[in-house]
Amino acid sequence: MSTRLPSYLNAADPGPWAMFLQQLDRVEPHLGELARWTDTLRRPKRTMVVDVPVRMDDGRIEHFEGFRVQHNLSRGPGKGGLRYHPAVNLSEVMALSGWMTIKNAAVNLPYGGAKGGVRVDPAQLSRGELERLTRRYTSELSSIIGAERDIPAPDVGTNEQVMAWMVDTYAINHGSIETGVVTGKPISMGGSLGRRDATGRGCFVVAREAMRRLGMQVAGSRVTVQGFGNVGNAAARVFHDEGARVVAIQDVHGTLVNEAGIDPHALLRHLREGGGGWADFPGATLVLADQFWSIPCDVMVPAALEGQITLANVSNIRARLIVEGANGPTTPEAEDILHAQGCTVLPDVLANAGGVTVSYFEWVQNATSFFWTEQDIHAKLDRVLSEAFDSIWRIAQDKRVNLRTATFITACSRVLEARALRGLYP
Ligand code: NAD
Repeated sequence: MSTRLPSYLNAADPGPWAMFLQQLDRVEPHLGELARWTDTLRRPKRTMVVDVPVRMDDGRIEHFEGFRVQHNLSRGPGKGGLRYHPAVNLSEVMALSGWMTIKNAAVNLPYGGAKGGVRVDPAQLSRGELERLTRRYTSELSSIIGAERDIPAPDVGTNEQVMAWMVDTYAINHGSIETGVVTGKPISMGGSLGRRDATGRGCFVVAREAMRRLGMQVAGSRVTVQGFGNVGNAAARVFHDEGARVVAIQDVHGTLVNEAGIDPHALLRHLREGGGGWADFPGATLVLADQFWSIPCDVMVPAALEGQITLANVSNIRARLIVEGANGPTTPEAEDILHAQGCTVLPDVLANAGGVTVSYFEWVQNATSFFWTEQDIHAKLDRVLSEAFDSIWRIAQDKRVNLRTATFITACSRVLEARALRGLYP
């Protein structure tokens, strides 16, 4: 197979896609016969770039860049979130779609990998503008998404309301309602119990499994969390509820520390219901953002954005375990140093797979119109992630590789086996 890159991929691009390619290079020697298909993962199967014109409240028409990348569909329909962020670009969406291929296969979900994004700062739009943007973007994508084609879900900057507008727009365009076209929907329109906190809960489940094998105790352990959004705040709450001490929480608005432990439920109430800010939260002290990395802790959960743990801050990190709630938070060079420092890294493609796992439960519930209890969801999530963790941990031990490479070995073997069996058309 040719290793030439497609013209739209810039070989010198230092962005997240290059990081994904580097991760594939590390796994290839472990794939045996299947390695001859690896080039299929070095390019996305389908890339859609759309113009999203939006009529703004003041009457102007503004144009936004929209993307949807279906990286690989060998094991099933595409699956992956939709991101609204001003820094979204093609390289980022391609990498995120590649990581979805790996993540879905690592936990054995019957999906390929996909991701979407719009280059926009949602905080700068009114609710009406956000709705019009979402509806136009969905409409532009309507020929490639669908419950059996490609199923978006929330990611950074999007939420249940955005998913509700997507379902509605898709239904109007197709003349019939298909709730399984997206996951992460509001409960009242076919969403699943337990979906909102699933990614953060999943971070805890895999961390608990790793801690058991590393001889660490959850109760009393010191945890730091970067990002207090969907993933970070759920992770902080579950760790806290399980007896860990959350000693620092960082968000774009500030960095809070309290060696005795921060109550994330209280912080959430203070921010949401009390209308308070980070600076006046009584349960912790505000410190400078850079100090976050050097706070002594047992477990660190980066749950904000990619590229956070780099050569610039890695040597300050004291954690024994890093749980990648975010996608791509650690650069490959920084990860090598973490391993040399004796720190175990639970890679994004395993650590944050809880969200897509409960998305899969939502999709199954939509297909059968039969809904499960929250306890059912928690128990099934725990089982799927614990089993995936166990087999990946064994591969890491057997092959003497880190957990990221072990996760890639598991996932790439599944994807490429399906690829080889399906063969090449025509
Ligand atoms: P979100 O928008 O709900 O929250 C992001 C959080 O990160 C916010 O609290 C924001 O203030 C903080 N943040 C942003 N930039 C920061 C910075 N420079 N320093 C400190 N904090 C910063 O997003 P989310 O859904 O929680 O997603 C977070 C990460 O998790 C992303 O990488 C996303 O791709 C990944 N992820 C999300 C899900 C999901 O179910 N939402 C699933 C898997 C992976």
